Amino acid sequence: MKRKLIIAANWKMNKGPAETTEFIESFLPGSEELSESCDIIIAPPYVSLPVAASLLVDSPVALSAQNVSEQDEGAFTGEVATRMLNEVGAQYVILGHSERRAIYGESDEFINAKVRKALTAGLVPIFCIGETLEERESGELEEVLRAQVSGGLADLTVEDMAEVVVAYEPVWAIGTGVTATPDQAQEAHAFVRTLLGDQFGAEVAAATRIQYGGSVKPGNSAELMAQTDIDGALVGGASLEAGSFRDLIANAVV
Ligand code: PEP
Repeated sequence: MKRKLIIAANWKMNKGPAETTEFIESFLPGSEELSESCDIIIAPPYVSLPVAASLLVDSPVALSAQNVSEQDEGAFTGEVATRMLNEVGAQYVILGHSERRAIYGESDEFINAKVRKALTAGLVPIFCIGETLEERESGELEEVLRAQVSGGLADLTVEDMAEVVVAYEPVWAIGTGVTATPDQAQEAHAFVRTLLGDQFGAEVAAATRIQYGGSVKPGNSAELMAQTDIDGALVGGASLEAGSFRDLIANAVV
């Protein structure tokens, strides 16, 4: 049986509270119907979470943060703790995004600490993995994904995994306009599912939702989401405009 689709908007460092309000007010009408066959998530920057949470109350759209600290509280300038995300009403948190890995040097071990911290706080991690073009071209795709999955999900239990969403995002397809072909994406997703099976067993592998990310748009979401092992999308650029994000979901759910 196909898993329920899960599509998340990753706004990255875009949209303060005013633009967040504008987007949500435009996006919400009609979202009820779309949410019947797709879990919908919006991930604004930290400062826009409170206004987003208040606008999303009683709506079918869930709220995600884009990062969280691996620490509980204290002298960690610039960081935000899981309980603060709980307090503002975030239900999900994106972890291990390739921009965090590449620009801020986050390692698998560090990401794993965040994943475990999020789970302890009842936040659903959207755990991102993916290879660079260089790694793909030099035949290291499987090795890279294996290391990211085993390192990032180390010490998690089968019960923990029921709360984890995985996002496969080939780095070469993020924000570039170049999308993996449906076949390339399906192949990588099937491999990630095998890795989950090796680490956590067949039931976890069959139940875990794996999003695809990398230049998903209204024009390609249907074909990508139709693949057996693709269960949703993590969307950057095409999620910044309410109409585009709505069309992308509408095309994916048909
Ligand atoms: C992302 O931010 O995770 C992403 C996939 O971005 P884009 O859709 O712009 O490629």
